Amino acid sequence: MIFKRSRTRSAPQEVPAVIPPGTKAGVKAGSILDPNEPSGPRDTAWQRARDNYRLVSPLNRRKFSIIVVGTGLAGAGAAATLADLGYDVTSVTYHDAPRRAHSVAAQGGINAARAKKVDNDSIHRFVTDTVKGGDFRGRESEAFRLAEESARVIDHMNAVGAPFAREYGGSLATRSFGGVQVSRTYYTRGQTGQQLQVAAASELARQVRAGRVKQYVRHEMVDLIVKDGQASGVIVRHLLTGELKPLLAHAVVLATGGYGNIYFRSTLAKNSNASAAWRAHRRGAHMAMPSFVQFHPTALPISSEWQSKTILMSESLRNDGRIWVPATPGDVRPPNEIPEEERDYYLERKYPAFGNLTPRDVASRAAKEAIDGGFGVGPLKNSVYLDFRDAIARLGLETIASRYGNLFHMYHDATGEDPTTSPMRIAPGAHFTMGGLWADYQLMTSIPGLFVAGEAGFGYHGANRLGANSLLSACVDGWFTIPYTVPNYLAGKLGQPLLDPDDPAVTETMADAYARFDRLLGIGGTRPPRDFHRELGEVLYSGCGVSRTREGLTHAIGAIRDIRERFARDLLIAGPVDRVNQELEYAGRVEDYLQLAELMCVDALEREESCGAHFREEYRSDTGEAKRDDSTWASILAWETGSWDDTPTFTRHVEPLSFEAVPLEVRDYR
Ligand SMILES: Cc1cc2nc3c(=O)[nH]c(=O)nc-3n(C[C@H](O)[C@H](O)[C@H](O)COP(=O)(O)OP(=O)(O)OC[C@H]3O[C@@H](n4cnc5c(N)ncnc54)[C@H](O)[C@@H]3O)c2cc1C
Repeated sequence: MIFKRSRTRSAPQEVPAVIPPGTKAGVKAGSILDPNEPSGPRDTAWQRARDNYRLVSPLNRRKFSIIVVGTGLAGAGAAATLADLGYDVTSVTYHDAPRRAHSVAAQGGINAARAKKVDNDSIHRFVTDTVKGGDFRGRESEAFRLAEESARVIDHMNAVGAPFAREYGGSLATRSFGGVQVSRTYYTRGQTGQQLQVAAASELARQVRAGRVKQYVRHEMVDLIVKDGQASGVIVRHLLTGELKPLLAHAVVLATGGYGNIYFRSTLAKNSNASAAWRAHRRGAHMAMPSFVQFHPTALPISSEWQSKTILMSESLRNDGRIWVPATPGDVRPPNEIPEEERDYYLERKYPAFGNLTPRDVASRAAKEAIDGGFGVGPLKNSVYLDFRDAIARLGLETIASRYGNLFHMYHDATGEDPTTSPMRIAPGAHFTMGGLWADYQLMTSIPGLFVAGEAGFGYHGANRLGANSLLSACVDGWFTIPYTVPNYLAGKLGQPLLDPDDPAVTETMADAYARFDRLLGIGGTRPPRDFHRELGEVLYSGCGVSRTREGLTHAIGAIRDIRERFARDLLIAGPVDRVNQELEYAGRVEDYLQLAELMCVDALEREESCGAHFREEYRSDTGEAKRDDSTWASILAWETGSWDDTPTFTRHVEPLSFEAVPLEVRDYR
C-alpha cells in the first residue's frame, strides 16, 4: 500500500486517550487498524491519493480479471467503468436482470455539493453536515471524497441518461433532506433510484454487449476463495440448476448492498441480504460497527402480525409534511377533528432550527418516545402523523401532488387512505445499515484483493447516514473510487496468473459449499426458514432497535443463540438442491443472519456510549439526547469472529478517529 498513516495539518482533535480494552465475556482486544489514508491535509487528500495511485497500462489491463458481485448503483458503476477501462470484468447478480437491484427502489434523491442554488452550500458545509450527521463516528477524509466527487456524480448520471427534475428555466432542481439547512438533493420525483439504476444498468449492458463484461445473472455468490491470504475468486450457485461453480479473478469487488432485512420487516427489497458480506467475513474480512443501523422515521407502521415487510415513505415528504401527535395521550378522535391547539408538532417544538428535517436518528427516537409515551395513533397506536394540510393550503394540491404524487399513490395502495385529505401514519422502520465490511481508504477490506463498495461497506456515514447520501456513496464508490483503487492494487501483480481451478483453495471452498447445502437440507425438521427469521426480527427490534440497553442486549444475545440452536435442529427445507429452491436460498441467508445478529448485539453492548443511531439508554444527556464518550469511543470497531461451531469468540480491532476540519462538538439540532 502506498500510503502512510494519516498525519493531519493541525493536531487532530481529541484522539481517544485509551484504546478500550475488550472487557465483555468472549471479547478479545485485537489490533489497531490503519486506514491507509494519504498523509497531509484531508481537504486535498483525495486529489493527492489519485495523483499517487499506480496505473496499469491500457495494453496490460485485459490481463487482469476482476469480479464485481452486485449490479446496484455501486456494482453496475464499478463493473461498467472497469470494463470501459479495458479490464476483463465478470459481473454477478442473483437477480434475473441487473437493473432489478435494490437501488431501483430508492425514492427521494441524491445529494451533491454542486452549489447551484445561492444558499451558501459548499464542500466544507457538506463535509460538516456528513461528519456531524454521523455523530463523529466516520472518517473525515472519506466525507471529503464524497463531497468532492458529488458534483461529478450528478453530471455523469445526467450524461448517461438519468432524467433529473428541472426548474422552469432548465437548471437541475434541488430540495432538502434531513440534517441540513441547504437544498442539495437532486431528484426525479419519488423515483430517483429507479432512474439512476436504469441509467447505470444501461451502461453495464453496453459493456456486456461490447463483450467486455461476462454477466452472470441468477447466480448467487455463496463463498469467497482466498489463497495465501489474497482474494482469488468466488463460488457461485446457479439459482435455476443449483450448479456450483468457481469464478477466479485477480481482485473481487463486493457491491452486495445492506443487511437491514435481518430485522425481518424492513424497508428493503425482500431479497436483499447479508450473505455475501458475511461469507467474506467468515473468510477473514473484518466487519465494522455492525450494530449501526438506521431506522427510518417515515416508514409505514406495522398493521398486522403477518405483515412481512414495511414500506418507506420518502424523507423528501418532510419538506412539506408536518409531523405531529395528539397533545393528549390516548386521544382517539380522527386527526381532522383534533384542533390545532391540541396537536403536538413535537419535532418543531423540540428542534426549532431543523424542525421536521432533523436527521433520521433524532426523528426516529422522538417518534418512538411519543409512541412509548402513549401518544401513538392508528388502530395499533404505533404511529405518528405526517400531515400535508398546511402545505396544500399554502401551495395548492396540484403543486404538492406534482412533488409527491407517486408516493401518495403508493400510500393509498398500501393503506386505502388518501394522504391529501387525512394525514399519513408513519413509524420508524429498519432501513439502512451504516455498518458493513471494514475497508481502508482504498475500499480494500482486511483481505488483500477483496474490495467493497456501496452499502455493503461501512464508510462515509458514521453512526447515522444523512438522507440522500447513500445513492451518492454507492455512485462515488462505483464510478469514481473503485476504478482508481483496484488498478492501484493490480499494478503490483502484473504477470501473476489466475488460480488453477484444481488448486486446493478452490476445491476445498467448493467442498465447503456443497457440504453446507447438504447439511441444511439434511436437518429434516418441521419449521421453514421464515419462522426463524420472523422470530429473529422481533428479538432484534426489541433488543437492538431504535434504542438499546445493557440488559436488553444481553437478553437478545441469549435469545439469538436459542433460535440458532433450534434452527440447527428443526429447520425444514422442501425440495432438492439441483433446481430452483428458494427455501434453500432463504435458509442459507437466515443461517448467516443468526450469526451476524449476535455480532450486532455484541458490538452494541461493547460500545458504552450513545452516538447517532446507536442510542444506549444508559448514556443520555440532561436533555435526553445521545451522549458520546469521545475520550474512549472515538473509533471504528471492526470485528473478527472465531469458529461458530460452539460458543463464538469475538476479536475487536480498533481504528482510532480524529477530526481536523470539523471540530468535535455535541450534536445539537435545536
Ligand atoms: C425504500 C428505500 C428508499 C431509499 N431511498 C434512498 C434515497 O432516496 N436516497 C439515498 O441516498 N438512498 C436511499 N436508499 C438507500 C439506497 O437505496 C441504498 O443504500 C443503495 O441503493 C445501495 O446500493 P448498492 O449498490 O450498495 O446495493 P443494492 O442496490 O442493494 O445492490 C446489491 C446488489 O448485489 C447483488 N447481490 C447481493 N448479494 C449477492 C450474492 N450473494 N450473490 C450475487 N449477487 C448478490 C444484488 O443482486 C444486487 O444486484 C433507500 C433505501 C430504501 C430501502
